[in-house]
Amino acid sequence: MEFDVWPAVLFAAPPIREPRVPLWVMEWTAAVLLHVWLFCVGACVGSFLNVVVYRLPRGRSLAHPGSCCPSCGHAIRLWDNIPILSWLLLRGRCRDCRAPISPRYFWVELFVATLFLAVAFWERTHFIGVWPGVPLRPLPSGAYDLWPYWSRYAVHVVLLATLVGGALILGDSFRTPSRLFWPAIGLALLLPVIWPEIRSIAAWRYGKMPDWQAGLIDGLAGLAAGVIGGLAGSLWRWFRTGEWPPFAPVSWAASLCVVLGWQRGLLWSVPALALYLVAAGLLWTVQSFLADLAPATDSPTDRPPTTDLPTTDPPPPP
Ligand SMILES: [Zn+2]
Repeated sequence: MEFDVWPAVLFAAPPIREPRVPLWVMEWTAAVLLHVWLFCVGACVGSFLNVVVYRLPRGRSLAHPGSCCPSCGHAIRLWDNIPILSWLLLRGRCRDCRAPISPRYFWVELFVATLFLAVAFWERTHFIGVWPGVPLRPLPSGAYDLWPYWSRYAVHVVLLATLVGGALILGDSFRTPSRLFWPAIGLALLLPVIWPEIRSIAAWRYGKMPDWQAGLIDGLAGLAAGVIGGLAGSLWRWFRTGEWPPFAPVSWAASLCVVLGWQRGLLWSVPALALYLVAAGLLWTVQSFLADLAPATDSPTDRPPTTDLPTTDPPPPP
């Protein structure tokens, strides 16, 4: 008899009580924690972007060697490599030799982190989400499916981070390597096949077709439009000036068109490109201005930029 009673005691639901904390407080606490977390992820992506922007155009490995101080050669300690915070705590100087570290690291990390937050707020108003007042899409099992939401978020933040990286590389007066855009293109092709509801816009009116096939066609149509548009624009410039644009135009346009869909991609590519090149030009101007301001000294402990970043005036922008 006792053996029959114990499971009932163990698994019985406790009596329902009024929660001590109001529901809206719990919801908003969860939302704030989520946004703080997204900000931290964005800062880490920004930190990685700093490495990519420096090493990729120079043909160096992204993984090896690890970060070290170019002035004294000391490896950067893990706790001195925390995005945003470490630069502030070290007051922009190497812990070992006190050589200055370029503030660009700090600003790129802060900017990308802010971008991650901004996209989260934007998606909140444009898609299902986990925020108060925004309904979740229930699955047949009764649980909620957040994968489409976050996969769409991932496509958008990866594209934006890639564009920031590309503009920084142009601002450093390097040609942008095409492969900078490949992760964004690959992700935007793959994820709508798995979660077709994140498709941006239908490539055309489909008949009865499985959703994943429609997602695949949308992505490939975007890719084709981007490649053709990018090639056409580049060839036009090449015939006129004899120069191929330095910003990897085919991959650039392909990444935009795969993410946005071919219609919006082609529509937005011209204003987006203008904005992109203006941003790169501004970055170049600011860096040249700061390089002019920095005091020229031969003292090894007081050399102006001692990090990975270019130390001399960059050549004229593209
Ligand atoms: Zn050092």
